[in-house]
Amino acid sequence: LLSLSGVRCDFGERQVLRGIDLDVDRHEVVALVGASGSGKSTLLRTVNLLEHIDDGRILLGGEDISDPRADADRVRSRIGAVFQHYNLFPHLSVLENVTLAARLVHRMPRLAAEERARELLDSIGLAEHTGAFPDRLSGGQQQRVAIVRAIMTEPELLLLDEVTSALDPELVGEVLELVRRLAGEGTTILMATHEMAFAREVADRVVFLDEGRVLEQGPPAEFFGAPREARTREFLARFL
Ligand code: ATP
Ligand code: MG
Repeated sequence: LLSLSGVRCDFGERQVLRGIDLDVDRHEVVALVGASGSGKSTLLRTVNLLEHIDDGRILLGGEDISDPRADADRVRSRIGAVFQHYNLFPHLSVLENVTLAARLVHRMPRLAAEERARELLDSIGLAEHTGAFPDRLSGGQQQRVAIVRAIMTEPELLLLDEVTSALDPELVGEVLELVRRLAGEGTTILMATHEMAFAREVADRVVFLDEGRVLEQGPPAEFFGAPREARTREFLARFL
């Protein structure tokens, strides 16, 4: 579904992505792990066309989305993305937040959008909060609303960047539970995470980024059980 080849991204002198080759199959859940500054967020941002690339190619469903002529809005409308800070609009209710892009970008009729939004919010126990403003919700609830917003229009690919790292520990579980459910439903997910236990449990494949390169990847049992590279072992040792 998604295929990066030789993707480079420099910020001035700094080479942040140094030739990334990465494929994500349909229905696959891929966890991106690596030290702070290794390029995980930058990689996700290049896929969503929020970051320039200096070399390489990114294909989504066979279409070259890194072609400068690609329509960025249309590409982004095929991808759902949730980042660390939930970015809900503070002046809009939960229901309005969830339905806005679906209505404006995807031209979903208001009633259909609201119906789907209510269904999704209900399924994660947030039915009674549809009319509330984001500041009345806990961080975990806000983050789950942001995820619901991202899946409203059934995107081909869901990008998640540290969706739990801004949360208090007791709120992490409910967000991971939602991601686990989406993974179980066959959503294609590429997620950057520091939650190794979670990556181990839900990912089909774990990809270790080291200084802008994919140093090692494999199924979780192999990756965590028998990492091949010294740098990977060093990185994982920090989580023991
Ligand atoms: P973390 O685990 O802390 O989220 P990360 O793996 O997501 O880290 P990135 O945010 O992708 O890392 O950053 C990789 C490197 O790129 C960092 O050294 C960062 O300072 C640099 N960087 C990111 N965005 C920019 C930018 N807009 N301008 C200059 N440098 C940037
Ligand atoms: Mg990051």
